[in-house]
Amino acid sequence: MEAKQSNLIASFQVDHTKIVPGIYESRVDEIGGDFTTTFDIRMKSPNKEPAIHPNAMHTIEHVVATFLRNDVEWKDRVIYWGPMGCLTGSYLILKGHPRPQELQPLLLRAFEHLRDYEGEVPGATAINCGNYLLHDLPMARWEAARYIEVLKSGARYEYEVTERLETSGGVFYDS
Ligand SMILES: [Zn+2]
Repeated sequence: MEAKQSNLIASFQVDHTKIVPGIYESRVDEIGGDFTTTFDIRMKSPNKEPAIHPNAMHTIEHVVATFLRNDVEWKDRVIYWGPMGCLTGSYLILKGHPRPQELQPLLLRAFEHLRDYEGEVPGATAINCGNYLLHDLPMARWEAARYIEVLKSGARYEYEVTERLETSGGVFYDS
């Protein structure tokens, strides 16, 4: 049996040297006849600017996840929000197959909430979190303000692709 040529995880097919901050569709999965869509909520240009500090990213996870799960318009479609290991953005998994542009108002609300957030980080206790001291709310608020600028003025919604190759094992993108 011939192995498929293109068996990389979908997100790794994107050229990360060309990613800039924005909102991207990372992958779409069909589960039992319904779609789930994984979005790449990219806050930093990978390998070109400092990534988000782990403490700030942890706080972004807690505050934004809490916001998304309580947003009247979207909460019923939110499956997951969590950080990328590379610390340049987060993944948002939603029911259905909305377009990235449709998420801009939601993410603007979420990050404005974080930018203005005061008080205790939700869930940052030893009972609710696996590393409750690994937080930095002031830095998370600073990162939120930076991403709001992207959302308001420069958000991209499609990965930059310069050349597309068809192969027997599927389709992949190459620069
Ligand atoms: Zn935690």
